[in-house]
Amino acid sequence: MGGEGFLTLCVVFRVSPEPVGEPLLLSLLRRYRDALNYSIKRIHGYMEENGLKKTPGDGAVHGLLYEELKSRFGLPSRIAVDCYREAKSILKSWLGNGGNGGLPRARRPRMWLTEKQGYRVRDGYVEIIGGLRLKIIGWDRRYDQYPSRQAVLTYRSGKFLLRVAKRVPKPQPISPVDVLAVDVNEKYIVAGNHRVEYRFETAVEKAVRYRELAERLQRKYSNGSYRAWLRRRGIRDRVRRFHEKARSIIEDWARKVSREIALTARRDGYAVAREDLTYLVESLRRLPRQHKTKLILLGYRRLGYWLDWQCEKHGVPHIAVDPRNTSSTCPLCGSRLIENGYRRMKCPNCGFEADRDTVAVLNIRRKALLQMGGSLTTPTAPQMTDVAPNRCGEPVNRPKGNPFRAGRRSDLGDASLTAWLNDSTYTATRIPRQALWRAPYTCS
Ligand SMILES: [Zn+2]
Repeated sequence: MGGEGFLTLCVVFRVSPEPVGEPLLLSLLRRYRDALNYSIKRIHGYMEENGLKKTPGDGAVHGLLYEELKSRFGLPSRIAVDCYREAKSILKSWLGNGGNGGLPRARRPRMWLTEKQGYRVRDGYVEIIGGLRLKIIGWDRRYDQYPSRQAVLTYRSGKFLLRVAKRVPKPQPISPVDVLAVDVNEKYIVAGNHRVEYRFETAVEKAVRYRELAERLQRKYSNGSYRAWLRRRGIRDRVRRFHEKARSIIEDWARKVSREIALTARRDGYAVAREDLTYLVESLRRLPRQHKTKLILLGYRRLGYWLDWQCEKHGVPHIAVDPRNTSSTCPLCGSRLIENGYRRMKCPNCGFEADRDTVAVLNIRRKALLQMGGSLTTPTAPQMTDVAPNRCGEPVNRPKGNPFRAGRRSDLGDASLTAWLNDSTYTATRIPRQALWRAPYTCS
């Protein structure tokens, strides 16, 4: 959880138990997982029996589970405590999200560890309770100076990973001089304003290829409605890997592009504005559920998430604007644009003409400036005159206060921990800029 002025990051260590410890550790993680799932069920059952709306207090949960977790699952005392506490917190957040679907379940062998009592990092080793020592193999040292909080040890594809939560102070937010507006479509992400424009290709095409590979395999090993591929482990694993690959391509791309945009914005003193994607996502949902649509959807959602996250991380104010009419309104005079060739738009009123994406970017910027009111720093304020709100025939109705209010944060919850896993192992590769030019439109 973020909290005021802090971001919770997750740093990942790849660890390896001393050879003799591996079966021991794996067995402990499996027992923990089973005990965790059992505890979730048991606490939930207790709540139903007693008509409770909230999870019971620690005392009640302790009485309910402590002895049983030790005797039935063979967990050491301290780990039994961590286990029911984790079960409680999982249940709590599930209930907080509406409690829909079945009860949450852990699938992979895992273990939750509290700092100090649960684990300790020392001399290149992680010592966990019960005397197990894990050698640290991959170590992200960038956040060493911040105190460690709880950690989760998981086992996945033959590897042990320790994800340690760190509470890191947010950087001092910049005072923006203007807005870098971000527009997304199937092919491009365009980030720009009245002066600059950056284009990034989306990863959809690349990801689609992996989905197609998976599909081809599924077809090849199917006979009518009999899906033989499901019954053959090797094929099933390959199909799964292709699907995972497609998803990770999208995730990687969203993270890198977002990072690039946030860093550019910080460097040039811009706030970042994007469309509120809810509407886009809704409209895409109504399309036939093809692979491509699904991947575009995923891309939008991940981009929205990562843009906000990277902006928070780099102290860039960010804002979401209403997406309506962003690509059909003239950014200069507010008239309705007409199509003028492939993806080009023209204003019948003032003669403004530009690429559809450029139009969207200019409109998003304009909307963001309106929403932000007077929160830009003054020296560059004259630059705004070309899209001054009162020239667009809209009321100058500026909301009070600074909508950014640094430090306010909402939803960088658990997802951000997982997300950080990828980010901390991220090596900086610069996304090639498709094009960069000034004032990418004409106005007669
Ligand atoms: Zn116009």
